[in-house]
Amino acid sequence: MQTGYLTEETLNIEPALLQLLMEVRLIVDPAYDANMYLVMSGTSVLIDTGTGLQSEECVKLLSEFIDPKDIDRIILTHRHIDHVGGAKALSEACDATLYASEDEAPSLRSGDQATTAARMFGKNLDKLDVESIGYGNAIEIGAEELRVIHTPGHTKGSISLYEEGTKSLLCGDTVFAYGGVGRWDFPTGNLQELVESVKGLTEIPIENLYPGHGPAVKGNAHKHIQASYRSLKVYRLV
Ligand SMILES: [Zn+2]
Repeated sequence: MQTGYLTEETLNIEPALLQLLMEVRLIVDPAYDANMYLVMSGTSVLIDTGTGLQSEECVKLLSEFIDPKDIDRIILTHRHIDHVGGAKALSEACDATLYASEDEAPSLRSGDQATTAARMFGKNLDKLDVESIGYGNAIEIGAEELRVIHTPGHTKGSISLYEEGTKSLLCGDTVFAYGGVGRWDFPTGNLQELVESVKGLTEIPIENLYPGHGPAVKGNAHKHIQASYRSLKVYRLV
């Protein structure tokens, strides 16, 4: 297993975007661990937490940008272990409240090893003290807000978070750069729901895309999402 951080250069942060939205990515194993994003605009919110294999290092990395105690909320895009495995350690280190959608929160509270894919990956998920956030709600971050969009398909309660001012979308595992789409064959996944979710995302003006795996897209991200939608045509559902 290769371990290492992306450098600031490879993070490819645009200065204009940096003022509103700062991105942190921790890579443990690029084929396995999920991206994490630190969103800063007056207050700070962390999106997803990785598998938890490198949580101490993650706190150190966050410390390069911010006092981790200034992160008051951690939003989980969906229940999978590679996004929530670090939630307990990071919420304790940051003294932050955990949030997940109303369809994902129960599986995290009960420590469901099956639908979180923890068992499949040979991990153990701790029971998490998670608050529910409703679909359509707005998460205030300073003067800005992230709108919670329900994008089921990868899992039943997957969410994407949209910031209107910069037209930025943090999409978990619903879509990826270069026309990728999330898997729908894990428990609670559904291809038809994924198709509808991706179609919905094509109807939103999105310039910047921050997916749960792989590279982020800075500028013209809607083209990547349209490619994701076209790729689903292979399944004759669109
Ligand atoms: Zn996932």
